[in-house]
Amino acid sequence: MVIIQTLKEMQAWTLEQRKAGKLVGLVPTMGYLHQGHLSLVDEVRKRCDSVVMSIFVNPLQFGAGEDFEEYPRDLSRDSRLAEAAGVDVIFAPPVREMYPSNYCTFIDVEKLTTGLCGESRPGHFRGVTTVVAKLLNIVAPHVAVFGQKDAQQALVIRRMVEDLNMPYDIIVAPIVREEDGLAMSSRNVYLNPEERKAALTLSKSLVLARQMIESGERTTSKVHKAMVEFIEAEPLAKIDYVEIVDGNNLSSVPHLEGKVLIALAVRFGKTRLIDNLLMEV
Ligand code: AMP
Repeated sequence: MVIIQTLKEMQAWTLEQRKAGKLVGLVPTMGYLHQGHLSLVDEVRKRCDSVVMSIFVNPLQFGAGEDFEEYPRDLSRDSRLAEAAGVDVIFAPPVREMYPSNYCTFIDVEKLTTGLCGESRPGHFRGVTTVVAKLLNIVAPHVAVFGQKDAQQALVIRRMVEDLNMPYDIIVAPIVREEDGLAMSSRNVYLNPEERKAALTLSKSLVLARQMIESGERTTSKVHKAMVEFIEAEPLAKIDYVEIVDGNNLSSVPHLEGKVLIALAVRFGKTRLIDNLLMEV
């Protein structure tokens, strides 16, 4: 495995792979790897000959007062995990390589980015789509894989790639969870033991919603109310949002049918966690 830090070297590497007829896959990450990230590597390895993992904590997608500075970073640990998982290249550019001082181009996907995380994190998706477009252009993979953990992000990226006619196959892989149900996240390291226990309210509230729907409940507001009450019973949990929306376009659905996305963001102390469930009703 090699670590590449410059755009030029990264572009040259893919060019060589393409000349040799190899299929290249990209796994974009912000590092501090866990099993969720590594499951994306497995997805790419099934489809491609070579795997590039980008590790870049993108300042553009963090708002003022968010955790850009504290975000966990450990490239030597990540390198060991990535290599063991079969990554061929880690692309880890410095911020100034991605955004030189004269940088001024941004990508904005409308509509899909106004609700859910877009509402509580203004500018977040503009940062995400801009960096993902850049990573796709630099690495020029055949395939890129994203996690369902960030359900809105996956929809927004699919839309960007389709709207801008970008020649990349986008794959979305399932959420990987800890044994007790907590969705894996690099931010879980922020949680103290009490918050870690309380954080189970996210996955448990999704289980509750699924059970209600499987038992025949079709009124969105009833499922929503039950989830909110369940989460509010946990004193350490502060709801950012709980939304039940159309799984294709994130519009509101008064009645549960078809592809439904149940998504939530909850704060525990200074840590904001997200989780979701995509259901065919
Ligand atoms: P991040 O490093 O948090 O930006 O995540 C990089 C990629 O890994 C994104 O496509 C995420 O959706 C995905 N990812 C993060 N956590 C998980 C998880 N628990 N299961 C599956 N994919 C995940």
